[in-house]
Amino acid sequence: MMVKTSFVSKAAPEQAGGQRHEAEIAAVEAALKQALAQSDLSIFYRAFRASSLPFLCGEYRDNAELLFPACFEIVHRLGGISPAVGLAVENHYYVTSAIATFPAAADPVLERHRLRLLSSIVTERLLVANTNSKVHSGKLGQLGTVARRDGDGYRVSGVASYTSLATEGDLLILMTELEGEGMAIFAISSPRRRPGIAIGDYLFPRAMIDSDTRRISFHDERLPPEALVVLAREEIAGLLPPFEMAWHQSLIPALYLGAAARAIEEVRAFLGATEGRDGQPLAALDGMVIDTGRLTLEYLSARSAVDAAGRALCSVKELPRDAELVSRAVQMASVAKYAGTGSAEALVTAARRIVGARAFTGDCILERLSQEVMFGALGPEVSAVIERRFGKQVLDSKCFPHPLLS
Ligand SMILES: Cc1cc2nc3c(=O)[nH]c(=O)nc-3n(C[C@H](O)[C@H](O)[C@H](O)COP(=O)(O)OP(=O)(O)OC[C@H]3O[C@@H](n4cnc5c(N)ncnc54)[C@H](O)[C@@H]3O)c2cc1C
Repeated sequence: MMVKTSFVSKAAPEQAGGQRHEAEIAAVEAALKQALAQSDLSIFYRAFRASSLPFLCGEYRDNAELLFPACFEIVHRLGGISPAVGLAVENHYYVTSAIATFPAAADPVLERHRLRLLSSIVTERLLVANTNSKVHSGKLGQLGTVARRDGDGYRVSGVASYTSLATEGDLLILMTELEGEGMAIFAISSPRRRPGIAIGDYLFPRAMIDSDTRRISFHDERLPPEALVVLAREEIAGLLPPFEMAWHQSLIPALYLGAAARAIEEVRAFLGATEGRDGQPLAALDGMVIDTGRLTLEYLSARSAVDAAGRALCSVKELPRDAELVSRAVQMASVAKYAGTGSAEALVTAARRIVGARAFTGDCILERLSQEVMFGALGPEVSAVIERRFGKQVLDSKCFPHPLLS
């Protein structure tokens, strides 16, 4: 089914929650600006937690048509102020949104876990952090943690390099291997209060510090039986990790494109307010008009890739019937991620060159955007992984375009 939601127009948030959400987003934006000015992110998190915004997963449960544009709008606007904070918040949104919209009705056990988890997120007003357990080692893709059965519960040990939102998360979603049984997803409540979990140093202690991305270590931490959300070996359960990834890679570009949109706004304001040596506004120079048009078109092109990824996600209505549509959503999300983060980085660089050295004189947002936007290309999937996958699909197929691309 085609869903005609446009994420480009201001109409999207209207459809997705009306005036109440708009007022809340504006209040949260103001709190983030104040938090950054005072170097105190607790100001932002207090405002965010007090709003209904983190819990849209409950309001729009099983309704990706409304949830996706609503999440897009929030992370896009926060990304225009701080991509790092936008990233921390995006991690909460992609996990909660995937749980909220995964069509698991045909697997009653998984469906029960999904609804229980969603209900506790909404009723206990939990912010959700996650880690895929990846570590930096001499071999790519290695997991640093492992879980094993212990009576009716589990024990987890090891280290995970990446967890954004680490000191704000009230619930930690851990993806790891359950010894001898394959990939498993656990939901660990109150990670900060558990003696066997140590939330460690910042992984990115300078440019991306506000993403609160930290290393986490697990010291034989005991988890209750209900902590296991899913063992990804069953037919439907195995589709949850790719479905989550599709949400992640569709939303990640939203925050970086928010940074790009803000950079274009800086260009617009600078060109309108500055005169050349001949006394003419820079905005009247034909070259500047063309440059601004080029930046705008690149931004809109990347946004349309995100739009398409959102529609692909929305098309997954019933599993296992729509398993192929999950693959397609993953594919479209990779395109959106690749195009969105690449364009965002290029757009911020281009804007900085137009505005010039005053971008770094202390009161221009382009400095922050420049430092943080470069993280877009670095995850979750790195560009080389996406390029290799698409390259192989095309070279292995009998014609171009490959069916999954059309
Ligand atoms: C700001 C930020 C926040 C993050 N927050 C979280 C979080 O909250 N939770 C979480 O689970 N994860 C998080 N991640 C991690 C993310 O999910 C990815 O695991 C991570 O970004 C992968 O990057 P890496 O450099 O570790 O990849 P690596 O796999 O170590 O790759 C390093 C480099 O090796 C090369 N390479 C890798 N694979 C291939 C290949 N197949 N072919 C050719 N070359 C290759 C590429 O040049 C690549 O840049 C975060 C990442 C970033 C950047």
